Amino acid sequence: MVDPRERINLDEIDKDGPQSYSRTLEVSPSELAGDEIVNLGPVSITANVQKGSQPGEYLVEGSARFTADLPCSRCLEPYPFASSSSFHLRFQPRPDVPQGEDEEIEIAPDELDVEFYSGRSISLRDLALEQIQLSIPMKPLCTDACLGLCPTCGANRNRETCACEESIVDARWGALSEIRQAIKKRES
Ligand SMILES: [Zn+2]
Ligand SMILES: [Zn+2]
Repeated sequence: MVDPRERINLDEIDKDGPQSYSRTLEVSPSELAGDEIVNLGPVSITANVQKGSQPGEYLVEGSARFTADLPCSRCLEPYPFASSSSFHLRFQPRPDVPQGEDEEIEIAPDELDVEFYSGRSISLRDLALEQIQLSIPMKPLCTDACLGLCPTCGANRNRETCACEESIVDARWGALSEIRQAIKKRES
């Protein structure tokens, strides 16, 4: 059962005008796509909702904040990540697509920020989950200068220097000089 306090009640906005919502939600990483996020703290979300200019349209603007640990995409070590994001969304009633007709709904380019609601409410939890999802970088990095793992021995190069680097470089130079020699032979 969804907690009614986690929902934006659209009838209430029709009746009483713009509303502000502020909630702190416990979110389980299993609610997110991908399982890379750990130690996800509660998500604080605020949303101000008012009617839009189109029939059935509602404007939702607000912000979301959370902290979590993300694994670095280079060295795989989890590192603390804090996110604060804001959003401006337009919600329109989900268009009725007749059963059996699987037509794509065409969305004009200036309507890319449009989302759809069905029923008479919008879930704050879904908004929060969406913000988390959008905030997680494609390639999280503990620091921009992260040296990553040694591809040969797996050592974390931020913490230790291994002996592999030199032999890799030697092998590359070796391959390069072979190419040079082959080119020379062809030229001569
Ligand atoms: Zn790293
Ligand atoms: Zn190594």
